[in-house]
Amino acid sequence: MATAVVEAVERVSAHAHTIQLDEQESDATLAWDSLTCIVVQVAAGGENGLGYTYGDESVASFVESKLAGVLHGTDALHPQTAWAAMREAIRNAGRPGVGAMAVSAADVALWDLKAKLLGVCLADLLGRFHERVPVYGSGGFTSLSERELSEQLSGWRDLGRVKIKVGRDPEGDPARLGVAREAIGDDVELMVDANGAFTPNAALGWAERYADFGVGYFEEPVSSDNREGLRRVRDGAPAGMAIAAGEYAWDLPELHELVGCVDVLQADVTRCGGITNLLRVDGLCKARALPFSAHCAPQVSAHVCAAMECAAHIEYFADHVRAERHLFEGTLEPEDGALRPDRSRPGLGIEPR
Ligand SMILES: [Mg+2]
Repeated sequence: MATAVVEAVERVSAHAHTIQLDEQESDATLAWDSLTCIVVQVAAGGENGLGYTYGDESVASFVESKLAGVLHGTDALHPQTAWAAMREAIRNAGRPGVGAMAVSAADVALWDLKAKLLGVCLADLLGRFHERVPVYGSGGFTSLSERELSEQLSGWRDLGRVKIKVGRDPEGDPARLGVAREAIGDDVELMVDANGAFTPNAALGWAERYADFGVGYFEEPVSSDNREGLRRVRDGAPAGMAIAAGEYAWDLPELHELVGCVDVLQADVTRCGGITNLLRVDGLCKARALPFSAHCAPQVSAHVCAAMECAAHIEYFADHVRAERHLFEGTLEPEDGALRPDRSRPGLGIEPR
């Protein structure tokens, strides 16, 4: 029997790309006027793997100073081994935050590279559980005027579900929810995200108001650091309203704690340790019979969620959709409200522009 040829990693590079936005955008707890995407490329055997994350430009120098040397010469056909080596190497430099984003982006690049070396679509390499994964339109920033909010949400009606930000000016949110419901009609799911703005008591009160507009999903009603508070809101929320959190988790232990506090677990493949770690999150969800929802980075999330039994949907986040179209060629577009990784294109199926 032939043994697989070792394809040694020859080159690792990382570049930060900052996109200035036309106007400042905001949610309940942050405002921003630009978006930085850090693109990591890993080369072996004449192929180039691509990964990325959204964070500070310092993630690029972290990849080059702490991870490139670890990856150089490792077997490109064994991303999980490389993942463990990267994690070990950054113990003292710091695994959460910048370290987690750097490992995540490099891990995605390694998986893309392996799929390209084997000539298969990444979703198929990982083991496709779903042919297609539903997405939901996500934006509805608190910085939008009512007219802008209405236009944005109307454009996502075909996706079947949309999410808006709440909690910056809570008294004004019922009016915004009314605008949202009018824009999408009665048949589209309406979701909200407070980005951790409320106390548990306040969140429970607002949840009752949101229910009047048919809101069935309330994300980060309180800070995700407040596990007990999240659990209280989950237990006391109106019938039919799911409580979700997990986008800021850097590693498995945090997600393991969160599964006991939410109805829907979220995680971000470009923050939580890449594809290698996110595949493990499917096991956490399966053990608790919880649906999983991918936070952002739709071009990577589509492939990994296709291989996750518990995947329910992917956040089709307005800023990331724009950034990924701008930075990469070959991006997947939703068809009938879902992303379907293309079996005929090796890897993620995208290339840097
Ligand atoms: Mg969120």
